[in-house]
Amino acid sequence: MNAEKTLRAVSAARLQYWLETLATFGPGTHGGMNRQALSEEDLQARAWLIDEAKKLGCTVWIDGCANLFIRRDGREDLPPVMTGSHIDTQPTGGTLDGCYGVMAGLEVLHALTDANVQTLRPIEVVVWTNEEGSRFSPGAMGSSAYVDPSRLTEYRTHQDAAGITVGAALDAHAQRFPELPHRDKIATHAFVELHIEQGPVLEQADIPLGVVSGIQGVRWYQVRCTGASAHAGTTPTPMRRDALLMATNTLGPIDALADRLAGDDKRLTFGRWNVHPNAINTIAGEVTFSIDFRHADPAVLDAFDAGLSACLPADAELTRLFTHAPTVFDRQVLDVLEQGCNATGLPWQPIRSGAFHDAMYLAEHCPSAMLFVPSRDGISHNPLEFTEPAQLEAGVRALAWSLVALAEQP
Ligand SMILES: [Zn+2]
Repeated sequence: MNAEKTLRAVSAARLQYWLETLATFGPGTHGGMNRQALSEEDLQARAWLIDEAKKLGCTVWIDGCANLFIRRDGREDLPPVMTGSHIDTQPTGGTLDGCYGVMAGLEVLHALTDANVQTLRPIEVVVWTNEEGSRFSPGAMGSSAYVDPSRLTEYRTHQDAAGITVGAALDAHAQRFPELPHRDKIATHAFVELHIEQGPVLEQADIPLGVVSGIQGVRWYQVRCTGASAHAGTTPTPMRRDALLMATNTLGPIDALADRLAGDDKRLTFGRWNVHPNAINTIAGEVTFSIDFRHADPAVLDAFDAGLSACLPADAELTRLFTHAPTVFDRQVLDVLEQGCNATGLPWQPIRSGAFHDAMYLAEHCPSAMLFVPSRDGISHNPLEFTEPAQLEAGVRALAWSLVALAEQP
């Protein structure tokens, strides 16, 4: 009943107002956004949001990684239900990636007030710091440090392009909001993140809502091929040891391996190349390139790993840079999200996330899951990022129903 009442109190106009207001902090080019993590624009956006939260009678906490927790009290002081995402953007980002999830949370808090609903458990809207990883590496910094605070010591030493450390930026943030009480990780009943899909699946299916079953895992590698730099014009074919040819000759076999293992689900990218000396009239003596391979099935990731060496020349050097296991979201939270989608009266479908999200780390801490709405043309990280207002509204309605249902669980 409370879930239904809150769903009906969601205001599409007010949601648009939150999104438009947030977009005034750090506008970028062509109607897009440039609001880097812990920048002045980010701090101003946070000040606005904290102000809005206090107007609603909410309590706001901060933690060591500048994550913000906006709590609407429940009838009892039980572990809360959390929702949220991030408000930092790519340098040429749009207005919805991350921002939509946080503004959706703000709108749900208003809908709860309008519907005069007080849930059993508290509901919290969270702003996770530096999800994009664009100013400071790595991405999902706030959510990963929340789940495992020991990560923060190392994160604090990381620098942006101007040499400012994460530690200095975090200290400046804390000084800007000295009135906010500090709070570390707490027991959490459930976490739900609402996000734009950033891919074409929902749009192509003409379905407004996606219940996200999980996030595919990833393996990153670097391959180094060593040849010999020599004169382009005078070195005869039998004597040429061209590192670029060695490297490019591996791409076909690696691609075929990924095809065999993943078929239509293949996500294989050779994104970064370094060619030395990178001169027009010198044979390349050394080439390094990266491999990004993603899949939802850990067995496929393992098989790719096992088969990779056989695709490379014997003297190539293979380095494993990064690995993250696939995330499988919590079945009971997914059940509630499916009911929340049903309550909107609109169609939904299960979907898998191709991109990382803060919920990936939260899933290590508490039962978690995500909701998606369509992205026009599958575009994100671009000023053209767009979702129909009616679809944005549908997502918030499903979120509102789900958060209340979770917050009424004893
Ligand atoms: Zn995002």
